[in-house]
Amino acid sequence: MLQQLDLIEKEALAALQAVNDEVDLGGWRVAHLGRSSPLMKMFDQLGTLPKEERPSIGRRANEVKRALESAQTSRAGALRQNALLRSLQMERLDVTLPGRPIAHGRLHPVTQNLREIYSIFADMGFQVYRSRDVETDEFNFQLLNFPPHHPAREMQDSFYISGDHPKDNPVLLRTHTSPGQIHAMREYSATNPENPPPVRIILPGMCYRYEQVTARSEIQFNQVEGLAVGERITMGDLKGTLSDFARRMFGQHVRSRFRASHFPFTEPSAEMDIECFVCGGVGCPLCKRTGWLEILGCGMVHPIVLHNGGYNPERYTGFAFGMGPERIALLRYRIEDIRYFWTNDMRFLEQFI
Ligand SMILES: [Zn+2]
Repeated sequence: MLQQLDLIEKEALAALQAVNDEVDLGGWRVAHLGRSSPLMKMFDQLGTLPKEERPSIGRRANEVKRALESAQTSRAGALRQNALLRSLQMERLDVTLPGRPIAHGRLHPVTQNLREIYSIFADMGFQVYRSRDVETDEFNFQLLNFPPHHPAREMQDSFYISGDHPKDNPVLLRTHTSPGQIHAMREYSATNPENPPPVRIILPGMCYRYEQVTARSEIQFNQVEGLAVGERITMGDLKGTLSDFARRMFGQHVRSRFRASHFPFTEPSAEMDIECFVCGGVGCPLCKRTGWLEILGCGMVHPIVLHNGGYNPERYTGFAFGMGPERIALLRYRIEDIRYFWTNDMRFLEQFI
């Protein structure tokens, strides 16, 4: 019987080697450790054996049973491990695949131009000064030397929010960034009224005019204004600052010129032109065959404006200038219609990376 037990163990372990999945393993268990398996039948026969043989046969039968059970457990573990490896192989995650690109936003072309303007003036020591979009007639016109009924007001038809007579000081959407000059000078001069500090600022922001919307004019647009106030500031400083700006904005070889003009808040006043960067001054449709492109208005700050800002015009002088970043973008990118800037058409905006 001991030999029979050896044989049962040998055959069962050999059969276990051929088992390759959980289902086969269940079958193997029924066949070799189940109630009607050869091993269990041996246990059944123990009672019929002579008394002296029972302990040794019984011990051996139990040994075989434990050996088969432990072989089954380790086989089951090996099968699970194989199944895991197989599934890892089959469903391998390829981390080398490139990810899906994220759609990047980008800056509006006018914002790009504005930032370029900021950085050029920042290099020359100008700080950005922001002021309100909603103004009173006093700040938008009167303190800037546009008295009521002054003809220069006709250039700046306005959106009034309240009142309809300049004497009532109506509230309106600012028609230019220039009221910020008064706010800034008053803020600076308040810090030391006897010896107000020098001012060197640019004032960017949205302006509003009650105008017909056309390819060349919009009811809202940006302006960047500049203001420098101090002792011994001359027209030479104005020309030097703005010529340097033009070279950095439009190219190192670009020439500029100043033409006499009129603004109520500067005296003398000028318009600044740059040599046409398309034709180099020969004449083309962009410059209307003149060879020059107008880019900004400027002048020496009017004594009345200095006085209204808290600076004694006997002692202090200053220059101011103002330009439209949309107009500069129109010229630089040769855009034909200013309305493209605010219609939010992606086909237009996507061209400016
Ligand atoms: Zn030209």
